[in-house]
Amino acid sequence: MTPTQHIYWHTTVQMPDDSNLTPLPEKVDVAIIGGGYTGLSAARTLARHGVKAALLEANTIGWGASSRNGGMVLTGLKVGMKTVLKKNGRDLARRLFQCSLDSIDTVEQIVKEENIDCGFARYGHLLATNKPKHFDALKDEVEFMQKEFNHKVHLISRDVQHGEIGSNIYYGALLDELSGGLNPAQYVEGLAGAAERAGATLHARARVRRVERGEKRFVVETERGRLSAESVLVATSGYTGNVTTNLQKKIIPIGSFIIATERLPDDLVKELIPRGRMIFDYKHYLHYFRLWDKRLIFGGRAAFFPETSNTIKRSAEILRREMIQVYPQLKDTKIDYVWGGTLDFTFDMMAHVGEVDGIYYSLGYAGHGVAMATYLGKTVAEAMLKGNIKEHPFASFAFPDAPLGLYNGFPWFLPFAGAWHRILDWIE
Ligand SMILES: Cc1cc2nc3c(=O)[nH]c(=O)nc-3n(C[C@H](O)[C@H](O)[C@H](O)COP(=O)(O)OP(=O)(O)OC[C@H]3O[C@@H](n4cnc5c(N)ncnc54)[C@H](O)[C@@H]3O)c2cc1C
Repeated sequence: MTPTQHIYWHTTVQMPDDSNLTPLPEKVDVAIIGGGYTGLSAARTLARHGVKAALLEANTIGWGASSRNGGMVLTGLKVGMKTVLKKNGRDLARRLFQCSLDSIDTVEQIVKEENIDCGFARYGHLLATNKPKHFDALKDEVEFMQKEFNHKVHLISRDVQHGEIGSNIYYGALLDELSGGLNPAQYVEGLAGAAERAGATLHARARVRRVERGEKRFVVETERGRLSAESVLVATSGYTGNVTTNLQKKIIPIGSFIIATERLPDDLVKELIPRGRMIFDYKHYLHYFRLWDKRLIFGGRAAFFPETSNTIKRSAEILRREMIQVYPQLKDTKIDYVWGGTLDFTFDMMAHVGEVDGIYYSLGYAGHGVAMATYLGKTVAEAMLKGNIKEHPFASFAFPDAPLGLYNGFPWFLPFAGAWHRILDWIE
């Protein structure tokens, strides 16, 4: 039976809707574009400091990746720390890694302080290896992370991995116990409530069409009218459009898709992921999976182009087939839901914050943004208050454009990149 094309997480919480639209204020201190974790976390922080902040969202609050993701709250960055260290030097690499740890603490603290019922817990994550040579490569990762970052990770060898994952296809894994998991839609809904309680105003159906810089202030034109703002923060992630063309040209929107199985019997739940870890594998075309309410939530980059009814439908078939390769036990399991969302890759796969022409931004999480978007939203807001965004660790390296300038925001090269990643997975 074909699964329903619907975001499963949305069935677990009453998401903010557009039944009661808040009128736009005429004048604010900060206008935030985008109503996901980045925008909401920034709005909460600014409002708590007495700043008049209005958040403008094109759809409904939490509509983007923030209510569609896998809910993995992960340590580290999208790029491996060995690469980060090599490229940025030891000091900056250490500061960046520390941000990743602080980002999880930030989520934990917000959930606690704001009483957000989203099942946050430190489940730990597993990086599962697809080939013996991947596992060999991880062997010195334990020592490297301890030596360079004073961070403990553990190797789980293939012969004992059944204590962690009920699959035979992997060649061992790396365990990081500091990572967590949550229900992303419950979290974003809770974060929206927290931002509003702090005093920020949230405006759904307020797509920003133009931002114009006046002598002292910005005029922000939305589909529901205009407002004047002293500063602007762009928090549009994979949905960044031509309102900020200079940023759009630095972001590659890539689709990621998820299926949710029917609720599984207790013994099967225990067998699939005995300790409830967040799991992803070693491939470029990676899989990520976890449990929630006895369902297996199984995601991957089944299509490279962002979500449409077609890419979602195709992804359902591909992901089901691939899930059964990981877990043959699920060959007769029904898939209840399938959905997709858009990731924001940058050309160096790093997140970037900063300011161009007086407009602040925080973008480029590349599928590693549940904790990081929350954290960067908060810390960029703090930097806006202090006027020291240039000192932010994520502002201290260049935000690259496409090689040779061959990109205007339409990712024509995705089919080639997809094919290239498949080749890399085959040879690496
Ligand atoms: C399928 C999927 C699985 C993922 N899994 C994980 C995971 O397990 N762990 C992890 O760490 N990360 C994961 N991510 C990444 C994570 O979800 C994102 O990094 C994070 O949600 C980004 O938050 P954000 O607020 O920056 O952007 P978003 O939540 O995407 O919000 C951006 C918003 O901007 C709005 N917008 C765009 N243009 C305009 C405009 N002109 N005017 C007004 N509003 C506008 C959009 O409507 C959108 O709602 C996943 C992402 C996807 C898609």
